Amino acid sequence: MRVLLRSMLFALVCLGGVTAWNYAQEYLSGIVWPMPPIIKPGDAKTAPSDAVVLFDGKNLDAWVNGEKWKIKDGVATASGGGIHTKQGFGDCQIHLEFATPAKVEGSGQGRGNSGVYIMGRYEVQILDSFDNETYFDGQCGAIYKQQPPMVNASRGPGEWQSFDIFFTAPKFHADGSLKKPAYLTVVHNGVLIHNHVELSGGTSWSEPPRYSSHPEKEPLHLQFHGNPVQFRNIWVRENMQALVGKK
Ligand code: MG
Repeated sequence: MRVLLRSMLFALVCLGGVTAWNYAQEYLSGIVWPMPPIIKPGDAKTAPSDAVVLFDGKNLDAWVNGEKWKIKDGVATASGGGIHTKQGFGDCQIHLEFATPAKVEGSGQGRGNSGVYIMGRYEVQILDSFDNETYFDGQCGAIYKQQPPMVNASRGPGEWQSFDIFFTAPKFHADGSLKKPAYLTVVHNGVLIHNHVELSGGTSWSEPPRYSSHPEKEPLHLQFHGNPVQFRNIWVRENMQALVGKK
């Protein structure tokens, strides 16, 4: 009897659920959205169709001092000084691939050091951090002297690695004071290592981080720190704005 009652109760609840579902109305926001632009997403070797290609293996014409770096077999090797883009970027998504030298030399900050300086002043560190101790806020993927990566996702010397960086540029008032800080999200070899981290300012080796007013768009800089770090497949996307709908 008790089993029968329980079965009847179960059937009633189910029926009620089905009835409620039948009479529910679809939620409509009332917002009319513009159509998201259609792009080609690219693959392991090619950039998305709406990206600014900064290095596709052929030349470094998009860079100032690019002639200093050696290009061979589609790979650019850091040499003789840093390079920076002719074009400035503000909010952006950056993709690049790098390999620290296969022949291991030096230790700590002296092994496979380079860096991605967003706007020429906010560095995501490149370093051989595979079995190579250094200070944690200076290891590979660190926001230099501000935030260590959540995990060390480094591959070994000579192996290709990737950074996918999502950057929100800082905003300044007309008097030069800070209006909104910069934010960084970084994926290293497919692994999230920074999730919307607020920057405290520029990343200096010798000074505490602080902001100083700068233009809305500034060149991207790749560091030469004396080590022949290799690069390939570098591109930037500037479309970081959410679609805006109308009610
Ligand atoms: Mg560096």
